[in-house]
Amino acid sequence: MRSVTCNLCGGDDWFVRYAATDQTDRRPEVSAFRCTHAGYGSHAQIVQCHICGHVYANPRWEEGELLDAYSSVEDDRYVLERAGRERTFAKHLKKLEKYTGAGKGRHLLDVGAYIGVFVEVAQSFGWKAIGVEPSHWAVEIAKSRQIPVIEGTLSARELEGEYFEVITLWDVIEHLDNPSAELGKIYTMLKPGGILAVHTMDINSLTAKVMGSRWPWLMDMHIHYFGRRTLVKMLEKNGFEVVWIGAQSRYLSLGYIASRIAGISQPVGRFLTWLIGKLGAAEATIPLNFGDLMTAFARRSS
Ligand SMILES: [Zn+2]
Repeated sequence: MRSVTCNLCGGDDWFVRYAATDQTDRRPEVSAFRCTHAGYGSHAQIVQCHICGHVYANPRWEEGELLDAYSSVEDDRYVLERAGRERTFAKHLKKLEKYTGAGKGRHLLDVGAYIGVFVEVAQSFGWKAIGVEPSHWAVEIAKSRQIPVIEGTLSARELEGEYFEVITLWDVIEHLDNPSAELGKIYTMLKPGGILAVHTMDINSLTAKVMGSRWPWLMDMHIHYFGRRTLVKMLEKNGFEVVWIGAQSRYLSLGYIASRIAGISQPVGRFLTWLIGKLGAAEATIPLNFGDLMTAFARRSS
Protein backbone atom coordinates (compact mmCIF):
# COMPACT_ATOMS: atom_id res chain seq x y z
CA MET A 1 0.00 0.00 0.00
CA ARG A 2 1.16 3.54 -0.66
CA SER A 3 -0.12 6.95 0.44
CA VAL A 4 -1.11 9.28 -2.38
CA THR A 5 -1.77 13.00 -2.68
CA CYS A 6 -4.99 14.50 -4.07
CA ASN A 7 -5.18 14.02 -7.83
CA LEU A 8 -7.22 17.19 -8.26
CA CYS A 9 -5.29 19.82 -6.22
CA GLY A 10 -2.07 18.00 -5.25
CA GLY A 11 -2.80 18.51 -1.55
CA ASP A 12 -2.18 16.01 1.24
CA ASP A 13 -4.75 17.23 3.75
CA TRP A 14 -7.73 14.93 4.12
CA PHE A 15 -10.25 13.38 6.49
CA VAL A 16 -11.67 9.85 6.40
CA ARG A 17 -15.05 9.85 4.66
CA TYR A 18 -15.54 6.06 4.73
CA ALA A 19 -13.35 3.85 6.92
CA ALA A 20 -11.79 0.77 5.30
CA THR A 21 -14.04 -2.26 5.57
CA ASP A 22 -11.05 -4.54 6.07
CA GLN A 23 -8.18 -3.36 8.24
CA THR A 24 -5.65 -5.93 7.03
CA ASP A 25 -3.14 -4.91 4.40
CA ARG A 26 -4.48 -7.27 1.77
CA ARG A 27 -4.39 -6.83 -1.97
CA PRO A 28 -7.80 -7.26 -3.63
CA GLU A 29 -8.37 -10.45 -5.60
CA VAL A 30 -8.43 -10.11 -9.37
CA SER A 31 -12.15 -10.91 -9.22
CA ALA A 32 -12.71 -7.60 -7.40
CA PHE A 33 -11.87 -5.82 -10.65
CA ARG A 34 -14.58 -7.45 -12.69
CA CYS A 35 -17.05 -4.88 -13.98
CA THR A 36 -19.96 -6.76 -12.55
CA HIS A 37 -18.27 -7.85 -9.33
CA ALA A 38 -20.96 -8.42 -6.72
CA GLY A 39 -18.63 -8.06 -3.74
CA TYR A 40 -20.08 -4.76 -2.61
CA GLY A 41 -19.16 -3.31 0.69
CA SER A 42 -15.44 -4.16 0.48
CA HIS A 43 -13.12 -1.22 0.03
CA ALA A 44 -9.94 0.48 1.22
CA GLN A 45 -10.04 3.69 3.26
CA ILE A 46 -11.81 6.44 1.30
CA VAL A 47 -10.78 10.00 2.15
CA GLN A 48 -11.97 13.48 1.20
CA CYS A 49 -9.55 16.31 0.42
CA HIS A 50 -9.90 19.22 2.89
CA ILE A 51 -8.71 21.66 0.23
CA CYS A 52 -10.74 20.82 -2.90
CA GLY A 53 -13.28 18.21 -1.76
CA HIS A 54 -12.09 15.38 -4.04
CA VAL A 55 -12.83 11.88 -2.68
CA TYR A 56 -10.37 9.02 -3.26
CA ALA A 57 -9.03 5.73 -1.94
CA ASN A 58 -5.96 6.36 0.22
CA PRO A 59 -3.69 4.58 0.92
CA ARG A 60 -4.00 2.20 -2.01
CA TRP A 61 -2.25 -0.42 -4.19
CA GLU A 62 0.67 0.18 -6.53
CA GLU A 63 -0.27 1.31 -10.04
CA GLY A 64 1.40 -1.70 -11.69
CA GLU A 65 -0.62 -4.05 -9.51
CA LEU A 66 -3.83 -2.35 -10.60
CA LEU A 67 -3.00 -2.62 -14.29
CA ASP A 68 -2.04 -6.30 -13.85
CA ALA A 69 -5.39 -6.95 -12.19
CA TYR A 70 -7.29 -5.23 -15.01
CA SER A 71 -5.31 -7.04 -17.68
CA SER A 72 -6.37 -10.40 -16.30
CA VAL A 73 -10.02 -9.63 -15.69
CA GLU A 74 -12.52 -12.13 -17.03
CA ASP A 75 -16.19 -11.48 -16.69
CA ASP A 76 -18.79 -13.63 -18.36
CA ARG A 77 -21.67 -11.81 -16.74
CA TYR A 78 -20.79 -8.61 -18.60
CA VAL A 79 -21.12 -10.53 -21.86
CA LEU A 80 -24.59 -11.67 -20.77
CA GLU A 81 -25.51 -8.07 -20.01
CA ARG A 82 -24.91 -7.03 -23.62
CA ALA A 83 -28.57 -6.15 -24.41
CA GLY A 84 -28.89 -3.76 -21.47
CA ARG A 85 -25.56 -2.15 -22.28
CA GLU A 86 -26.39 -1.69 -25.96
CA ARG A 87 -29.59 0.17 -25.05
CA THR A 88 -27.76 2.28 -22.45
CA PHE A 89 -24.97 3.20 -24.87
CA ALA A 90 -27.40 4.03 -27.69
CA LYS A 91 -29.22 6.39 -25.32
CA HIS A 92 -25.94 8.00 -24.17
CA LEU A 93 -24.74 8.41 -27.76
CA LYS A 94 -28.00 10.07 -28.89
CA LYS A 95 -27.55 12.63 -26.13
CA LEU A 96 -23.87 13.11 -27.02
CA GLU A 97 -24.69 13.72 -30.70
CA LYS A 98 -26.67 16.82 -29.68
CA TYR A 99 -23.23 18.35 -29.05
CA THR A 100 -21.06 16.58 -31.62
CA GLY A 101 -23.45 16.24 -34.54
CA ALA A 102 -23.92 12.88 -36.32
CA GLY A 103 -20.98 10.53 -36.85
CA LYS A 104 -20.71 10.65 -40.65
CA GLY A 105 -17.49 8.66 -40.67
CA ARG A 106 -15.70 10.91 -38.17
CA HIS A 107 -13.24 9.39 -35.67
CA LEU A 108 -14.26 8.26 -32.20
CA LEU A 109 -12.09 6.54 -29.57
CA ASP A 110 -13.62 4.64 -26.65
CA VAL A 111 -11.13 4.36 -23.77
CA GLY A 112 -11.55 1.25 -21.59
CA ALA A 113 -13.73 -0.23 -24.31
CA TYR A 114 -13.89 -3.65 -22.63
CA ILE A 115 -15.56 -6.10 -25.05
CA GLY A 116 -16.35 -3.30 -27.51
CA VAL A 117 -20.10 -2.86 -27.00
CA PHE A 118 -19.94 0.94 -27.25
CA VAL A 119 -17.58 0.81 -30.24
CA GLU A 120 -20.09 -1.40 -32.05
CA VAL A 121 -23.01 0.90 -31.15
CA ALA A 122 -21.03 3.96 -32.34
CA GLN A 123 -20.23 2.22 -35.64
CA SER A 124 -23.94 1.55 -36.14
CA PHE A 125 -24.52 5.30 -35.63
CA GLY A 126 -22.06 6.07 -38.45
CA TRP A 127 -18.89 6.81 -36.46
CA LYS A 128 -15.49 5.48 -37.48
CA ALA A 129 -15.06 4.08 -33.97
CA ILE A 130 -12.22 2.17 -32.31
CA GLY A 131 -11.54 1.21 -28.72
CA VAL A 132 -8.54 0.70 -26.45
CA GLU A 133 -8.65 -1.73 -23.52
CA PRO A 134 -6.06 -3.29 -21.18
CA SER A 135 -7.87 -6.61 -20.57
CA HIS A 136 -6.53 -9.28 -22.95
CA TRP A 137 -9.63 -11.42 -22.41
CA ALA A 138 -12.01 -8.58 -23.29
CA VAL A 139 -10.02 -7.60 -26.40
CA GLU A 140 -10.15 -11.22 -27.65
CA ILE A 141 -13.95 -11.18 -27.37
CA ALA A 142 -14.14 -7.87 -29.26
CA LYS A 143 -11.85 -9.27 -31.98
CA SER A 144 -13.99 -12.40 -32.31
CA ARG A 145 -16.84 -10.05 -33.30
CA GLN A 146 -14.60 -8.02 -35.66
CA ILE A 147 -14.86 -4.98 -33.38
CA PRO A 148 -11.65 -2.88 -33.57
CA VAL A 149 -10.31 -2.73 -30.00
CA ILE A 150 -6.58 -2.22 -29.39
CA GLU A 151 -5.06 -4.05 -26.41
CA GLY A 152 -3.37 -1.54 -24.10
CA THR A 153 -3.75 1.97 -22.72
CA LEU A 154 -3.72 5.50 -24.17
CA SER A 155 0.05 5.07 -24.64
CA ALA A 156 -0.50 2.18 -27.10
CA ARG A 157 1.79 2.49 -30.13
CA GLU A 158 -1.19 2.11 -32.50
CA LEU A 159 -2.64 5.39 -31.16
CA GLU A 160 0.48 7.49 -31.79
CA GLY A 161 -0.31 10.38 -34.14
CA GLU A 162 -4.05 9.55 -34.15
CA TYR A 163 -6.57 12.35 -33.46
CA PHE A 164 -10.28 12.08 -32.74
CA GLU A 165 -13.43 14.19 -32.97
CA VAL A 166 -14.85 12.33 -29.96
CA ILE A 167 -13.29 10.39 -27.07
CA THR A 168 -15.43 8.55 -24.53
CA LEU A 169 -14.79 7.25 -20.99
CA TRP A 170 -17.75 5.13 -19.86
CA ASP A 171 -17.34 3.93 -16.24
CA VAL A 172 -13.56 4.23 -16.55
CA ILE A 173 -12.29 7.40 -14.83
CA GLU A 174 -13.09 6.05 -11.35
CA HIS A 175 -10.65 3.16 -11.96
CA LEU A 176 -7.66 5.23 -13.15
CA ASP A 177 -4.71 5.76 -10.83
CA ASN A 178 -4.00 9.26 -12.19
CA PRO A 179 -7.18 10.48 -13.93
CA SER A 180 -5.93 14.07 -14.26
CA ALA A 181 -2.89 12.93 -16.29
CA GLU A 182 -5.12 10.74 -18.49
CA LEU A 183 -7.49 13.67 -19.12
CA GLY A 184 -4.49 15.79 -20.07
CA LYS A 185 -3.35 13.11 -22.52
CA ILE A 186 -6.89 12.79 -23.95
CA TYR A 187 -6.99 16.57 -24.51
CA THR A 188 -3.95 16.29 -26.80
CA MET A 189 -5.59 13.41 -28.72
CA LEU A 190 -8.75 15.42 -29.51
CA LYS A 191 -8.98 17.60 -32.57
CA PRO A 192 -9.71 21.29 -31.74
CA GLY A 193 -13.46 21.51 -31.04
CA GLY A 194 -13.54 17.77 -30.25
CA ILE A 195 -15.63 16.45 -27.38
CA LEU A 196 -14.86 14.14 -24.47
CA ALA A 197 -17.69 12.25 -22.74
CA VAL A 198 -17.09 11.07 -19.15
CA HIS A 199 -19.59 8.86 -17.33
CA THR A 200 -19.02 7.96 -13.67
CA MET A 201 -20.74 7.68 -10.28
CA ASP A 202 -21.73 10.87 -8.39
CA ILE A 203 -20.48 10.70 -4.78
CA ASN A 204 -22.45 13.83 -3.89
CA SER A 205 -25.78 12.63 -5.31
CA LEU A 206 -28.73 12.38 -2.95
CA THR A 207 -28.68 8.56 -3.29
CA ALA A 208 -25.02 8.40 -2.21
CA LYS A 209 -25.67 10.73 0.73
CA VAL A 210 -28.78 8.87 1.91
CA MET A 211 -27.13 5.43 1.62
CA GLY A 212 -23.89 6.55 3.30
CA SER A 213 -21.46 3.68 3.75
CA ARG A 214 -24.03 1.30 2.20
CA TRP A 215 -23.87 3.03 -1.19
CA PRO A 216 -23.10 0.10 -3.52
CA TRP A 217 -20.48 1.93 -5.63
CA LEU A 218 -18.05 2.04 -2.69
CA MET A 219 -15.78 -0.85 -3.63
CA ASP A 220 -12.16 -1.92 -4.02
CA MET A 221 -12.02 -1.38 -7.77
CA HIS A 222 -13.11 2.27 -7.52
CA ILE A 223 -10.26 4.65 -6.68
CA HIS A 224 -11.75 8.08 -7.46
CA TYR A 225 -15.19 9.28 -6.41
CA PHE A 226 -16.24 12.44 -8.22
CA GLY A 227 -19.06 14.86 -7.56
CA ARG A 228 -20.24 17.22 -10.30
CA ARG A 229 -18.10 20.07 -8.97
CA THR A 230 -14.88 18.07 -8.68
CA LEU A 231 -15.35 16.44 -12.10
CA VAL A 232 -15.87 19.84 -13.73
CA LYS A 233 -12.80 21.18 -11.88
CA MET A 234 -10.57 18.35 -13.08
CA LEU A 235 -11.78 18.76 -16.68
CA GLU A 236 -11.20 22.53 -16.56
CA LYS A 237 -7.77 22.05 -15.00
CA ASN A 238 -6.86 20.07 -18.12
CA GLY A 239 -8.10 22.74 -20.52
CA PHE A 240 -11.60 21.45 -21.23
CA GLU A 241 -14.77 23.52 -21.35
CA VAL A 242 -17.71 21.56 -19.87
CA VAL A 243 -20.74 21.96 -22.16
CA TRP A 244 -23.16 19.66 -20.29
CA ILE A 245 -23.26 17.67 -17.05
CA GLY A 246 -26.20 15.74 -15.64
CA ALA A 247 -27.55 12.45 -14.28
CA GLN A 248 -28.15 9.66 -16.80
CA SER A 249 -30.11 6.46 -16.46
CA ARG A 250 -29.03 3.02 -17.66
CA TYR A 251 -30.89 -0.06 -18.82
CA LEU A 252 -30.42 -3.19 -16.76
CA SER A 253 -31.90 -6.65 -17.21
CA LEU A 254 -34.17 -7.91 -14.47
CA GLY A 255 -31.92 -10.95 -13.97
CA TYR A 256 -28.94 -8.67 -13.42
CA ILE A 257 -30.82 -6.43 -10.99
CA ALA A 258 -31.81 -9.49 -8.95
CA SER A 259 -28.17 -10.65 -8.81
CA ARG A 260 -27.10 -7.20 -7.60
CA ILE A 261 -29.83 -7.12 -4.96
CA ALA A 262 -28.54 -10.52 -3.77
CA GLY A 263 -25.26 -8.72 -3.00
CA ILE A 264 -27.15 -6.55 -0.49
CA SER A 265 -29.74 -9.06 0.75
CA GLN A 266 -29.35 -12.72 -0.23
CA PRO A 267 -32.93 -13.85 0.61
CA VAL A 268 -34.54 -10.96 -1.29
CA GLY A 269 -32.19 -11.49 -4.25
CA ARG A 270 -32.88 -15.23 -4.32
CA PHE A 271 -36.63 -14.66 -4.22
CA LEU A 272 -36.47 -12.13 -7.07
CA THR A 273 -34.27 -14.44 -9.16
CA TRP A 274 -36.83 -17.23 -8.66
CA LEU A 275 -39.76 -14.94 -9.48
CA ILE A 276 -38.13 -13.46 -12.60
CA GLY A 277 -37.19 -16.99 -13.75
CA LYS A 278 -40.81 -18.08 -13.31
CA LEU A 279 -41.94 -15.15 -15.45
CA GLY A 280 -39.25 -15.87 -18.05
CA ALA A 281 -38.25 -12.20 -17.79
CA ALA A 282 -34.53 -12.44 -16.91
CA GLU A 283 -33.53 -10.83 -20.22
CA ALA A 284 -36.08 -7.99 -20.09
CA THR A 285 -34.43 -4.58 -19.60
CA ILE A 286 -35.75 -1.54 -17.75
CA PRO A 287 -34.33 1.98 -17.42
CA LEU A 288 -33.08 2.85 -13.94
CA ASN A 289 -32.07 6.25 -12.66
CA PHE A 290 -31.13 6.73 -9.01
CA GLY A 291 -29.44 10.01 -9.87
CA ASP A 292 -26.08 8.66 -8.75
CA LEU A 293 -24.56 8.19 -12.22
CA MET A 294 -23.55 11.28 -14.14
CA THR A 295 -22.17 12.18 -17.54
CA ALA A 296 -20.15 15.25 -18.52
CA PHE A 297 -19.48 16.42 -22.07
CA ALA A 298 -16.37 18.60 -22.33
CA ARG A 299 -14.92 20.37 -25.34
CA ARG A 300 -11.36 21.04 -26.40
CA SER A 301 -11.87 24.64 -27.44
CA SER A 302 -8.60 25.38 -29.25
ZN1 LIG B 1 -7.65 18.20 -3.30
